Amino acid sequence: MLRICLIGIFLLFASAAQAGSSTPAKKLFGNKPLPASLAPRSHGFYSRGCLAGGTAMPVNGPNWQAMRLSRNRNWGHPDLVAYLKWLAGQAAAKDSWPGLLVGDMSQPRGGPMLTGHASHQIGLDADVWLTPMPNRRFSRREREQISATAVVKPGPHRVYENIWTDAHFALIKRAASHKRVQRILVAPGIKKKLCESEKGNRRWLRKIRPYYGHNYHMHIRLFCPPGSSGCKPQNATPADDGCGKALAWWYSKAPYAKSKTPPKTPPKPRKEIMLAGLPAACRTVLSAADRAVAGSPPAAYSGRSMPLEGSAALSAMAPAASLADLPVPLVPRSRPATR
Ligand SMILES: [Zn+2]
Repeated sequence: MLRICLIGIFLLFASAAQAGSSTPAKKLFGNKPLPASLAPRSHGFYSRGCLAGGTAMPVNGPNWQAMRLSRNRNWGHPDLVAYLKWLAGQAAAKDSWPGLLVGDMSQPRGGPMLTGHASHQIGLDADVWLTPMPNRRFSRREREQISATAVVKPGPHRVYENIWTDAHFALIKRAASHKRVQRILVAPGIKKKLCESEKGNRRWLRKIRPYYGHNYHMHIRLFCPPGSSGCKPQNATPADDGCGKALAWWYSKAPYAKSKTPPKTPPKPRKEIMLAGLPAACRTVLSAADRAVAGSPPAAYSGRSMPLEGSAALSAMAPAASLADLPVPLVPRSRPATR
């Protein structure tokens, strides 16, 4: 009898382990509503990793508001949270930018997401809307429904001159000025405007990288933090200001030209990331106990009730998803070697 029981228990565990290994990592991480009760560490690469000991960006602060709370993505490495609070305070005090509207950061334990981003997996990426915070507090509902304002027309890659202000310039420059910032992704039209506007020291411009889909927000990425030996750094950005040839590429026909030699085999669909494809430490992150957090967090986002699917509001937050809505010439067929 005991033997049968033991075999039964073994089979139960074996099938549970198998279920875990055949479940895409995005489901495993997307269903964890709370951070792992571990010391803060970023494991792996920005687009393939996870986060131990995540900290929440408070949904309200003196100079910021977190948006899209239903997604439960206002989590990051404590260094990212500290950086965003610093940026919010500095921008309000010195740059005439009244406050930050903070979009996606990471899930409580990082990892791949059910919808939207390929990166944002290790608690070091944050999307900040290029829309100034109003002087009132948004309701939860408004935070789901309000759209960010596009500051650039993606086709010709030109900022809307009636929307762009000196404060936009000052905010992005301020964001890049922090030594912990590795790079900031913005639409090519924004990079061009920054290049034209900077009349002094241009060193910070090397951190500003043009990439499509960033017409409403900037994507800030921090360097691997001290103490995260398992964090895989990204290549350094080129040493020049990036305002020359690299930027001109976006204004040439090259990104939109059809390849002369058609690929021999059709492109493979992107493979689902499984737990085994993440750093080994991510297993521990996934199985660790919840860290108790004051107040109840929003339920883990299930992917079923995404508000305003396909709208401008969504495209502001999920660049990849918005590409399908764009006319063909706006989607580069070839991509620059580096972001
Ligand atoms: Zn982003």
